Amino acid sequence: MLDVRNLSVSYGQHRALHEAALRVDRGEIVVILGANGAGKTTLLKAICGVCEGRVTGEALLEGEDLVGQPPHRIVEAGIALVPEGRGIFPDMTVEENLTLGAYADRARDEQRASLDRVMTLFPKLGERRRQVARTMSGGEQQMVAIGRAMMSNPSILALDEPSLGLSPLLSKDLFKTLRTVREAGLGLLLVEQNARASLAIADRGYLLDTGEITHEAPAQELLTDPAVQRAYLGGA
Ligand code: ATP
Repeated sequence: MLDVRNLSVSYGQHRALHEAALRVDRGEIVVILGANGAGKTTLLKAICGVCEGRVTGEALLEGEDLVGQPPHRIVEAGIALVPEGRGIFPDMTVEENLTLGAYADRARDEQRASLDRVMTLFPKLGERRRQVARTMSGGEQQMVAIGRAMMSNPSILALDEPSLGLSPLLSKDLFKTLRTVREAGLGLLLVEQNARASLAIADRGYLLDTGEITHEAPAQELLTDPAVQRAYLGGA
């Protein structure tokens, strides 16, 4: 469904991503692992049209190249980003935050239906629809951010470090939430520090090392790969 080819990003003279290639299919969870500064955020931002650097290459969604298109067009095409740090509006209610996610043309006409769909997927958001976002727990706020991205009715959800700052218990809930999203038929492209938990729910993974994708394998294989265990899983 999403097919990224030769994607490169430069910030001035600095090349942060070099000819990356990856794909995400419907109903698939794909995780990108890499050290700090490897270019994970850059990769997600370049796909979503919000990268400050110079982007070349292709990001094909159902055959349509999204590189160079404005972010709202990319949302309309069907890719939604849950950015690092969530980016929700703390003084607005859950419902107001969700409604703001329905700005794409394809979503605006069916805002009510999208709201119902998201609240059915995440009943907790329905129960808390009138609660002001800042009074929610970190895990609940992350669910609001994911719910808001789902309001544009995407086929691909890109998530940048969604478990950052969550307690182990809330992280567990988050990974459960991501499974629910996958079951709804979306493809997930996930950047995570929590390699073990993300590989446990993922289908495939890519290793990104200083701007280059060095390895691709099924998630179960990566979990038992000694080099991956040393680098990302805290030893064997
Ligand atoms: P982290 O896990 O620490 O967030 P990352 O893998 O997401 O790291 P990026 O944030 O994509 O890495 O950064 C990749 C490289 O690009 C880094 O060297 C970073 O300093 C550089 N970089 C990122 N954004 C910019 C920018 N707007 N201007 C200049 N350089 C940037």
